[in-house]
Amino acid sequence: MASLEKIIGHRRQLSVLSHSLKGIRIPTGYLFAGLNGIGKSKVAKTLAQSLLCENPVSSEMLPACGVCGSCHRIFGGNSESVLWIATDDLQMKLEDVQPIHQFLNLRAISKYRIVILDQAQKLNPSAANSILKVLEEPPPDVLFIFISPSPQQILPTLLSRLQMILFYPLSVDQLKELGDFPDWALRASQGSVERLLQMNDPQQTKYRLHAFSDFRRWMEDPQSIKDPLVRDTFKDRDSLMDLSKYFLSFLRDLSVLQGGPGAASDTTSVESQLLNPDLTKELLSVSAEAKPDVISLRDRIQKVFQWEQSLQSTRDPLMATEILFLN
Ligand SMILES: [Zn+2]
Repeated sequence: MASLEKIIGHRRQLSVLSHSLKGIRIPTGYLFAGLNGIGKSKVAKTLAQSLLCENPVSSEMLPACGVCGSCHRIFGGNSESVLWIATDDLQMKLEDVQPIHQFLNLRAISKYRIVILDQAQKLNPSAANSILKVLEEPPPDVLFIFISPSPQQILPTLLSRLQMILFYPLSVDQLKELGDFPDWALRASQGSVERLLQMNDPQQTKYRLHAFSDFRRWMEDPQSIKDPLVRDTFKDRDSLMDLSKYFLSFLRDLSVLQGGPGAASDTTSVESQLLNPDLTKELLSVSAEAKPDVISLRDRIQKVFQWEQSLQSTRDPLMATEILFLN
């Protein structure tokens, strides 16, 4: 069984990390920042494997062998030297990061101990401060890896102690390495493996078409979001987040069709510039019926951004959605 995760793309980032492993001193902490679902966690796991590998290989990327006992344990999530912190809650609280202190108080049994904080943007101030104390006087041979969609969401005092590695969305060609996907899905996923796989799921394909019909009604009647169809399909936070992403990609395509930012210069090349080329006909018809101008499209895009933000912080995503769209 393979015990290395296949990493697609990110050659430059892997080479930077590989070089730092060969250097005299590895930083106390990294921040891996970039869009969700593009492979940051895989790189974090492979970096941990590389630090603890029993038979490192010579590689310009990362030297984990993938076959030794240590690489296997890390792959399976059973390494005593790697602590993975994550939460499904809205916030990462003090009690969620307590295990870090216990972990670091134990006697080291390997040359490195690695703490990975997944979705570190969720750290609340007291949890962040408790980690900051460790980063201010780090025990030797401990590496922290923070993972977050963007550096702006990390407390500046923490950020100043981390070496930042930025990860970028994957190209269509890189996504093709994952297998055969329809062209529209490769583009609509906007560089995220997670979104691409989601889109290939028949359930998601149905959702996307529901999303489009909700979008269409919203373009025709701004208050339609409160209607039953939306409620039935998109109820919880995750599905509403998906819905907001679909809305953004449809709005972006409408602005291409309308001659807004990124507008196509001639009609034959329009389709090739859309994120949802399979819906070109439908998008053109929305565009013809609703006739949104550049300003109203911009307002709607801002509204969807606002919606996305409120979904990340609210306790009642459905109510937040209704309130926002009713106003
Ligand atoms: Zn190994």
